[in-house]
Amino acid sequence: MNELTVHSGRIVLAEREIPRGYVVTREGRIAEVGEGEPARIAGDEIDAAGMVVLPGFVDIHCHGGGGQSFQEASTEAYEGALRAHLKGGTTSIVPAIAACGRGEREAILEVVREMVGRGPDGDPERPPFGPSERLSPEVLGAHVEGPYFSQKERGAQPEGLIGPPNSEDYLPTLEAYGDIIRVWAMAPELPGAVEFTQELTRRGIVTALGHSDASEEHVEAAVEAGASLVTHVYCAQSTFHRVDADKKLGLAEMALLLDELTVEVIADGKHLPPRLLQLVLKNKRPERVALITDAMPAAGMPPGEYEFLGDTVWVTDEVAYRADRQRYAGSVLTMGKAIRNTATACAGWKPAVQWVTCAEGEGWVAVAEMASLTPARVVGVDDRKGSIEVGKDADLVVMDEAGEVRAVVSGGVTTGG
Ligand SMILES: [Zn+2]
Repeated sequence: MNELTVHSGRIVLAEREIPRGYVVTREGRIAEVGEGEPARIAGDEIDAAGMVVLPGFVDIHCHGGGGQSFQEASTEAYEGALRAHLKGGTTSIVPAIAACGRGEREAILEVVREMVGRGPDGDPERPPFGPSERLSPEVLGAHVEGPYFSQKERGAQPEGLIGPPNSEDYLPTLEAYGDIIRVWAMAPELPGAVEFTQELTRRGIVTALGHSDASEEHVEAAVEAGASLVTHVYCAQSTFHRVDADKKLGLAEMALLLDELTVEVIADGKHLPPRLLQLVLKNKRPERVALITDAMPAAGMPPGEYEFLGDTVWVTDEVAYRADRQRYAGSVLTMGKAIRNTATACAGWKPAVQWVTCAEGEGWVAVAEMASLTPARVVGVDDRKGSIEVGKDADLVVMDEAGEVRAVVSGGVTTGG
């Protein structure tokens, strides 16, 4: 039998923390959770004394890492990027496909389909238990980002391909890959957006609103048609504006206002500076906030100049810049860093709302919800992922007091023993 005991750590459950407790995993599932010390150490052992044990992080919007891009239709590229994010505590991931033509999109989806079937050690031939150097986050499906976006808010998405949703373009993709597409992001102000949202909703696919110049009525109509997610809130989207003499909310304010909408948050301190992050957290409960990386391929790489898919980017510890260094080219986050930044942005900040007290020794439950349970719920896997609970997948992250990831368990497998 394959077992693992993580003990002597602070265990972060969905509703509360156990100050000193243990988690036993068996055959890839969480088998026991308890207070104090376990009666015996079952199987392998991780001593988490002085550390925090969190549920594995679920990243529902990520473009690559470790020098590899999810835009490349190659299993090697996927394996490299997946391993880079595992080190940051991601145990489940939804690779994002940036705006591209249908042929390229479907070639990438074919690779995603192959990755979806793999066990946590990446090898379909081996039982997925025991320490493994090949350990990888579980690929839950694909996040298709575009190309139905606003030209004005396309951000780093390529110009030539951007345009309104067109059923001749999306229906064949949905017919062939609808079963592995978890999220499709689009701008709700475009003609055909409501029909497209209805089609996604009918198929159980999450519609995300983003790269958008929408006014409040467009957002309202999309939400009515079933849209439930907002792509990286406050990045590449409309805010408060005037239409002639009238004042209108943009997508960002509608995201804060409407409880139906869960917001993606890029917590790198740059895409959302700390006060903007506080503003979001003051308006959205953790159950409506999904921390994402939106990472580009330089995530997990040393600072320097890189060439990715034809673009030169300048990478620092915090963010990637375009060649002119006047705009961001994407985030270099891992989920571990996102959690550290969220806790830091909120440390010492005592908002009137109870649910975001991230001061020292508090707030792990809220942060874990934003990094694990909420994103798991968004893509419909919260029955088996997103929290430390008996029966769920054995996905765990052990962090030290400074917020550094010290060990990762994915499907009961540990990183390298
Ligand atoms: Zn993205």
